Amino acid sequence: MPALPVSLPVYLDNSATTPVDPRVVEKMLPWLTSRFGNPASSSHSFGHDARAAVEAARGAVARLVNASAQEIIWTSGATESNNLALKGAAQACAARGRHLVSVQTEHNAVLDTLRDLEKQGYTVTLLAPQTNGLLDLAQFESALRPDTTLVSVMMVNNEIGVVQDIAAIGAICRARGILLHVDAAQATGKVAIDLKTLPVDLMSLTAHKTYGPKGIGALYVRKGTPALAPQMHGGGHERGMRSGTLATHQIVGMGECFRIAGEEMATEVPRLRALRDKLHRGLSALDCVRVNGDMQQRIANNLNISVMLPDCDQMIAMLTDVAVSSASACMGGGASHVLQSIYGGQAAPNAIRITVGRFNTEEEIDFALDYLTRKIRECQARKAAPAAA
Ligand SMILES: *Cc1c(COP(=O)(O)O)cnc(C)c1O
Repeated sequence: MPALPVSLPVYLDNSATTPVDPRVVEKMLPWLTSRFGNPASSSHSFGHDARAAVEAARGAVARLVNASAQEIIWTSGATESNNLALKGAAQACAARGRHLVSVQTEHNAVLDTLRDLEKQGYTVTLLAPQTNGLLDLAQFESALRPDTTLVSVMMVNNEIGVVQDIAAIGAICRARGILLHVDAAQATGKVAIDLKTLPVDLMSLTAHKTYGPKGIGALYVRKGTPALAPQMHGGGHERGMRSGTLATHQIVGMGECFRIAGEEMATEVPRLRALRDKLHRGLSALDCVRVNGDMQQRIANNLNISVMLPDCDQMIAMLTDVAVSSASACMGGGASHVLQSIYGGQAAPNAIRITVGRFNTEEEIDFALDYLTRKIRECQARKAAPAAA
């Protein structure tokens, strides 16, 4: 038997998480062993050393999104950042109003947090996007009320990869004195983010979708934003907004993975796009394949297709040689609320999300295209058999 060209399964689920880049691992290791100090210890060099590393990483994270270092608050990931941003800002502004606006296609870390705020007495309007996954700006503007204090719209959707027009949404919010929170967990390293010009007040970031470790993230809080109500109480770290001993090794990892992302974006994004486009061309040549979400306003590495054949969910559940997502990884395999929302309550059947990453090779993409094409054709052939109704 000839040697396999690639090792299987091929990992094509880079929007669920990414491997930690070996360069990032290398940077993290000393902070677990010899350089183990608590960054809050101010009376000896162990503490000073760790503090300096934390602040250098803060600078690196800030640089990727063109913010200043003082505007970055460390958290455990985008879930916590979303919780802190939404609860912290809603509560801080409660005296002014209790109406919040967001979108049905947000990540559950936003949707569930908003549901909790509803229980606390806030009113939430969740807008339905258009069939291409993008928000209709006129519809958005008409949902805003005098008592609206906070809007939350994600930059890049984790399932269909569409990129919302955050500049326009932010301008509408700014004109009415409404705070804008943006979940950018899927955007870093894929889309240029310039917070000096983007009218965004709060932005959630995470390391593990950008070749960094799991369990570390950040919240950007624009200078001048009303003080967020803390959700984690304790030693008053992070200017009182988020207590807890800083995880130096994780923070160093996030700084390094964001630094690399910034440095390599210009060459990496076109490479990812070429690989994704190859898959897109090949798969959409099959007449039973439909693409979900806008193909223009979309990140370079995401393809989300529906196989428009009845009863092929078994085939999709058994794609053993490629690791893709048949529903959002964060939903434990349930029906996609994102696809339901863009198709007006009807879920798109048999959806497959393919997300290409830094460590995928052209050989792997060729293999995956051939493999998926064969699987889909097998399904089609079965449907064409006389017994199929
Ligand atoms: C992954 C993801 C999250 C959750 O991030 P964690 O760092 O895993 O908590 C939130 N929002 C979006 C859009 C995501 O893709």
